[in-house]
Amino acid sequence: MCGIVAYVGPKQAYPILINGLKKLEYRGYDSAGIALLNSSLNVYKTKGKVSELENFVKDVDLRGTIGIAHTRWATHGEPNQANAHPHYSQSREIALIHNGIIENYGLLRKELETRGYTFQSTTDTEVLTNLIEDIKNNEHVSLFDAVRIALNQVIGAYAIVVISYDDPDTLIAARKGSPLVIGIGKDDYYVASDATPIIEYTKNVVYLDDEEVALIQRSSDLKIKTIRNQEKTPYVQQLEMNLTALEKGGYEHFMLKEIYEQPFSIKDSMRGRLHTELGTVSLGGIVDFEPKILAASRIIIVACGTSWHAGLVGEYLFEDLARIPVEVEYASEFRYRNPVINESDVVIAISQSGETADTLAAIELAKSKGATILGICNVVGSSIARATHGGSYTHAGPEIGVASTKAFTAQVTLLTLMALRMASLKGTLSRTRYMQILHALELIPEKVAQTLILSKKTVYEVAEKFKDVRNFLYLGRGYNFPVALEGALKLKEISYIHAEGYPAAEMKHGPIALIDEDMPVVFIATNKGTYDKVVSNIQEVKARKGQVIAIVTEGDTIVKGMADYIIEIPETEEMLVPLLATIPLQKLSYHIAVMRGCNVDQPRNLAKSVTVE
Ligand code: GLU
Repeated sequence: MCGIVAYVGPKQAYPILINGLKKLEYRGYDSAGIALLNSSLNVYKTKGKVSELENFVKDVDLRGTIGIAHTRWATHGEPNQANAHPHYSQSREIALIHNGIIENYGLLRKELETRGYTFQSTTDTEVLTNLIEDIKNNEHVSLFDAVRIALNQVIGAYAIVVISYDDPDTLIAARKGSPLVIGIGKDDYYVASDATPIIEYTKNVVYLDDEEVALIQRSSDLKIKTIRNQEKTPYVQQLEMNLTALEKGGYEHFMLKEIYEQPFSIKDSMRGRLHTELGTVSLGGIVDFEPKILAASRIIIVACGTSWHAGLVGEYLFEDLARIPVEVEYASEFRYRNPVINESDVVIAISQSGETADTLAAIELAKSKGATILGICNVVGSSIARATHGGSYTHAGPEIGVASTKAFTAQVTLLTLMALRMASLKGTLSRTRYMQILHALELIPEKVAQTLILSKKTVYEVAEKFKDVRNFLYLGRGYNFPVALEGALKLKEISYIHAEGYPAAEMKHGPIALIDEDMPVVFIATNKGTYDKVVSNIQEVKARKGQVIAIVTEGDTIVKGMADYIIEIPETEEMLVPLLATIPLQKLSYHIAVMRGCNVDQPRNLAKSVTVE
């Protein structure tokens, strides 16, 4: 998820590595570290910024023409010095940096512990480092083969670079599900998680494919094999992008990049938690609290902004699937309105940053009344993560754009997993129905990718047509009501157009007065249960000459005949539609904001982490 830089060649590695890390700072991270090999293999790492790492190493020996460096965005264990990368193996002969998540790290760690390994950190990464050492020593194989064999035992996502004291001319790099690129210089090699740190040295690069391992040796040709020992011919490409474009992965804005990351971020949120083949959902951070949730008189979800909308989807999910009553509260209202709350309540607090001041205050209040508090945050080790009794991280990766996109879909994914877990414990769904939903959830990342393609053209046309209007209305029923709210919020946030989200049926109780030929109305019309009712609502808008933009399930014919613009999304289970229907709405607000010349990534008056009440 975060930053990797490595170097081997005739030059001093430290300046290249440190500058490379600085180029990757845009990704957001919480700690930084470096390993340099000279007469010994030295790891230096610290919590905080790259500048703090520079300060930390000011008085040490930084010589060495080979080294690896990392900025960590914590997924397993707090952001602190021990958890920062690189991680030494037990003997300190190997050091490794890693982006991604090793799903089966718990099991691997237990096995290694029985063989005498002890661990300095709580990360998944250190487990892989020791696994490689164990294989190297027990199977008497080269470091390259040890890495390759170890990766066959790993479930999850990784981009790694390995360095070893025994082999001062070699770096080993590998990837699966997390990008890694090798720069080929005149007489040296650069490795990085994206090309940003490499471009100033060379334009010749090789992008590793999933399950490929590269042997990168001083004064030798690059060699690549698959983890199953098949040789591959390195495919050298020319980098054509400029630096600014590269920092955003080729996208014009972070928000657009983050919108397009959603097939992967949703997958990361489910990684190691959804086991369709076993028919199970496991959420390590809430397992101890499951009896409490089962016995709870109700769940109270507290959040603000986009997270509150995710909470609303959560309400529908918990009530629908697990038959647990839920109340969703604005944290700012909850904290000041003397709420009735006691030991039998379970509170779920949702916040991307984990620092939202009102949500934190709501947590403290609920805690003081004896409630059990669970958190859903994106940033590991954040204040909310520390203030709650348990909870789960969304693992969506750093979100830089102020308007939340991938964090929202990750929150909804996690709430879906939680609701399914509770449903299975309570037996509120038949096994067949439960398995159908599990299978449908597994397909969501792929369907998000399809949604991005399917909706592309029409969303752009709609943006062009309506970019200058002053008001927008978003309507949806059931699971699509929170989607309407979120669509409207996105538009307000970044394009400064006034927008309202409403339950479609509520239109008649007020907003209908606003409808005329100048009023665009976005309908999320994918519902199965209330489809006919939504169709009637669309007719009511058309009868008043409103302009209808409808999000429908692929193949829909009825709404197609009525709406001015149709945006299709793939078919899925009703409760999973928010994960798809939100995507074109994020893109619509993005395009309108760009066309209006707004600062998409840093909209006026807004902050990414709202630490004031
Ligand atoms: N899972 C690893 C950790 O928590 C790597 C995180 C990253 O991608 O930066 O340390």
